[in-house]
Amino acid sequence: MIIIIVVIILVGSCLGSFFTVIAERVPIGLSLVSPSSHCPRCKNKLKPLDLIPIFSFLFLKGKCRYCQTKIQLMSTVIECLIPLLFLIFYYTNHLSIVYLPEIIIILTSIILSIMDILYLELSPTIFLLGYGISFVLSYLFYQPIHIHFINALLLYFTFSVISYLSISKIGLGDVKLICFWALTLNINNLVYLLLYATSSALLYILYLYSKKISIQNKKIPFVPFLTFAYIIIFLQ
Ligand SMILES: [Zn+2]
Repeated sequence: MIIIIVVIILVGSCLGSFFTVIAERVPIGLSLVSPSSHCPRCKNKLKPLDLIPIFSFLFLKGKCRYCQTKIQLMSTVIECLIPLLFLIFYYTNHLSIVYLPEIIIILTSIILSIMDILYLELSPTIFLLGYGISFVLSYLFYQPIHIHFINALLLYFTFSVISYLSISKIGLGDVKLICFWALTLNINNLVYLLLYATSSALLYILYLYSKKISIQNKKIPFVPFLTFAYIIIFLQ
């Protein structure tokens, strides 16, 4: 039991670290291996000891070893979030090969969420690769999936028109993501997905208002809220 938990934490935190590298580098066309990890301020190359997920952040007290600049919190948050998610999946009997397509969708969506937070755009390569693998896996190895093609098409049309007409535009990346998920989700889950995503985004906006942080003329990344909503539906 303890061994399983330790393995989940180790694998999850390493995956989290790798996902952050993908999300930081792919949208700006950088290779995943070169240049090697370095401090964005003093450009010093990081030693292996500086790259251990979670541990390095605690060991270095959240600062660069050389110039004492604060290390971005994002990577450590994701390194904690993925093992936490895996532990929740494990304790709710969702960490199983049976749910592989859904887990791939969730992990891909987490990478896309980080990209959305950092750059407000999604990499089409990661989008198609992650969701494509999940889709092919479900189609080939799992019970025949019902493809809600008409729903997805109708949603794409509706959201595109709303996005075109509204002043505060919905990101087209978000629209494509919702429509891709709509292919495999039934209408009931789709309604819940939109409800959970919009209400959690609204809570976040209210939080920003309470902190007197202005969001006028600012775009809010929506993929993290969609991903959160998908995870809730997956666990139900
Ligand atoms: Zn530095």
